[in-house]
Amino acid sequence: MNRRKFVLNTALTSIGGLLGINYLKGNNSLEAHLKSSVNGGIMLDNPTIISTWRFGIAANDAAYEVLSKGGNALDAVEAGVKVPEADLNNTSVGRAGYPDRDGKVTLDACIMDKDGNAGSVAFIQHIAHPISVARAVMEKTPHVMLVGDGALQFALENGFKKEELLTENAKKAWEEWKKKNNYTPPIGPNNHDTIGMLAIDKEGNISGACTTSGLAFKMHGRVGDSPIIGAGMYADNNVGGAAATGLGEAVIKVAGSFLVVEAMRNGRTPQEACEMAVHRIVEKQKNYKDIQVGFIALNKHGERGAYSIVKGFQYAFHQKGENKVYDSDYHLKE
Ligand code: ASP
Repeated sequence: MNRRKFVLNTALTSIGGLLGINYLKGNNSLEAHLKSSVNGGIMLDNPTIISTWRFGIAANDAAYEVLSKGGNALDAVEAGVKVPEADLNNTSVGRAGYPDRDGKVTLDACIMDKDGNAGSVAFIQHIAHPISVARAVMEKTPHVMLVGDGALQFALENGFKKEELLTENAKKAWEEWKKKNNYTPPIGPNNHDTIGMLAIDKEGNISGACTTSGLAFKMHGRVGDSPIIGAGMYADNNVGGAAATGLGEAVIKVAGSFLVVEAMRNGRTPQEACEMAVHRIVEKQKNYKDIQVGFIALNKHGERGAYSIVKGFQYAFHQKGENKVYDSDYHLKE
């Protein structure tokens, strides 16, 4: 029996068992219903993608392009997040990202596959697609994480090109900021925009990716949650995955994405799991009213969740051929 049939049969057997019916003996209508139902949660023939923010739409499209041709979730999430990494209008991911307080563009990214393998780069400069370097760390080294000059050196040795990533526009914004802010890194609710993405392929396997230029005008050397496995992103093929955006310091302190995935493992829906993780931040961090953190989650049934501290967090969800932006629910209702 192939894996898809095995998972489906397992689901049918347990539901049939609960109802006292053996659906595997000839009744196909429940099978058809489960296969096509979001709430039924069996999405085996239906690739599903979720990603953070409105710019997730274009990223989801690129990921779907891979999945619709039968490609796997790992290739899909890499292709997906490369879209905002390359987008010159996106000032918070990859090329054209706003620099740190010293005027340097430093990037963070991580990736996880269906087998629990993980790769990550942090504080890397001059490489336009850090997500692909993170994947190379995962696939070609005995390590999980490379940072700074070591990550750059590894990238160059593996054929990545050294480039200037600071655009004129980003430089101007930095110069303006220097005049006004006197070198205090901003931590407000409106200065966030990482792309985190989770995808489930036709085989029912999940992978995740996360990439960012981090907080604009951060201290030189600062690393956020995004490249930290279990903080900015986590995926477990038995359960599902989660990704975070917002003030990385707040996410790291609660191991945010891991927290969401473990909550799903223990029976919470993706929505309940995201809400629990945001509430953990609210409980633990006194300054929560001044910051934003948002989580997205996707379980192995293709069910999603999203929640943030303050209003304004959006995510893009692609399922059954429909790719749409949604407003996340949020904690601080005033
Ligand atoms: N989480 C990112 C960081 O702290 C920022 C963001 O989501 O925009 O680096």
